Amino acid sequence: TKFEEAGLHPVMMENIAHCGYEWPTAVQAYCIPALHEKLDVIAVAQTGSGKTAAFLIPIISQLMGKAKQIAGPRPNAGNPKGEGTARAEPLVVIICPTRELANQTFDEARRLCYRSMLRPCVAYGGAPRQLQQNELQKGCDVLVGTPGRILDFLKRPGVLAFNRVRYAVIDEADELLQPVWEESFHALIAELGAGFGEPPRFLMFSATFNQKCQQLARQYLSPKCVRL
Ligand code: AMP
Repeated sequence: TKFEEAGLHPVMMENIAHCGYEWPTAVQAYCIPALHEKLDVIAVAQTGSGKTAAFLIPIISQLMGKAKQIAGPRPNAGNPKGEGTARAEPLVVIICPTRELANQTFDEARRLCYRSMLRPCVAYGGAPRQLQQNELQKGCDVLVGTPGRILDFLKRPGVLAFNRVRYAVIDEADELLQPVWEESFHALIAELGAGFGEPPRFLMFSATFNQKCQQLARQYLSPKCVRL
C-alpha cells in the first residue's frame, strides 16, 4: 500500500512528504485503514517501527478535515508571546511513559500538524510547570505527556479538561503499567474513559502484550478492536 491510496487529507500528504516518508511501514499500513473504519486498535510495535506516525497520521488527518469547526479556543491568536487564558480541551490525548518519548512524539506531532489549525502541546514532570501550563492555555488540540503531569494539570482549575477527547493513545502500555506509573496511569485512563457524551476511541501500543495489557484492553477497548 501507498500513502496516496489511504484517503488522507491533502495537507497531511504534504506533511508526510516533508517528513521524507515515502512508503508506510507495516504498522502504519495496518493502523491507517483501521482508524478510517473507526475501530479501536491494539498494536504490538517496537520503537523504530514507525508506530508514532502510525497513530498520528490517521488521527490528525481525520481532524484536519474539520479543524475549522473543532479546533479549541485561541485566546492569543494575534499575540503569540501573550499569556494563555483558555482552558485546554484537547481532542487527542497521547500518554507516554517517559519525557523523552513524550518529546519525540510532540516533535512528530508538530511536523504532522503543520499548516493545519491543530495545536499540539506537551506536558511532563521534571520541568517547570508554568511554561507548559501557559502553552496549554494558549489552546491545545493534541496533548502529549506523562501521566503524573497530565493529572496534575487536570486537577488545577481552568487549565485542562477532558470533555472533548475523541482519541486516546496509550503508547508503550507495558511501561505505563509498571509500578512507577501504574496508579496515576489508571487514574488518568479512568478520566478519559468517563466519556462526556461518547467515550474516545482507544489506541494501544506496546512492545509486549502481557496479562496487565490484556486486562487494560478488556477494560477500555471496544471488543471489536483490531489487533496487530
Ligand atoms: P518510531 O517507531 O515512531 O519511534 O519511529 C522511528 C523513526 O522512523 C522515526 O525517526 C520516524 O521519523 C521514522 N519514520 C516513521 N515513519 C516512517 C516512514 N513511513 N518512512 C520512513 N521513516 C519513517
